Amino acid sequence: MKDTENKKGKVVIVSGPSGVGKSTICKEVVKRLDNVYLSISVTTRPKSEPEVDGQDYWFISEQEFQERIDKGLLLEHADVFGHLYGTPRDKVEEAVREGKTVILEIDVQGAKQAKPRFPDAIMIFILPPTEKDLVERMDRRGREAVEVAEERLNGASSEIAAAWQYYKHMVINEDLQQAVDECVQIIEDSSNGS
Ligand code: 5GP
Repeated sequence: MKDTENKKGKVVIVSGPSGVGKSTICKEVVKRLDNVYLSISVTTRPKSEPEVDGQDYWFISEQEFQERIDKGLLLEHADVFGHLYGTPRDKVEEAVREGKTVILEIDVQGAKQAKPRFPDAIMIFILPPTEKDLVERMDRRGREAVEVAEERLNGASSEIAAAWQYYKHMVINEDLQQAVDECVQIIEDSSNGS
């Protein structure tokens, strides 16, 4: 039985290297939990083909992004590989007030900003089974130029190093279903106070 109804306003921060499968895991976790809200970030990154505005991200201009920063509308924001990403504050705070389990899929820089605001946040870092696997997954996505992919891979090592300090939970995405099960278990256990 899914039993998250009476667990009040937990924030779950999910990070991990680009291409590790965080978005897929988060979407699957959302299906498994009740009373859950998956935050939709704003970004200045161009939309790629299968993505839907307002569903995967809110795709906005740099000017709009800056206006949101100036008005204090973002809970956290970061420059990730040359594009800006941020978490809209109002939706997240509203969902927390409503007692929802709120999932933020954000990078390590953003997690460092969000954590002091939500000290009890459940911190999960998703790891690839091997670096080779990460390269293959990035290849399959085929979204970016080789230089950008290289930059992302270099970023991956420093993200993974930082993760040992900041994230209580590490989940290896070798098998999607297993990774989802582990995340659900972590969230339920943390919500139960263990
Ligand atoms: P992608 O462009 O591959 O969708 O995302 C690139 C990176 O930006 C990923 O590590 C993702 O977790 C991160 N990201 C997505 N949304 C946000 C956000 O709102 N804030 C921060 N800090 N990082 C984000």
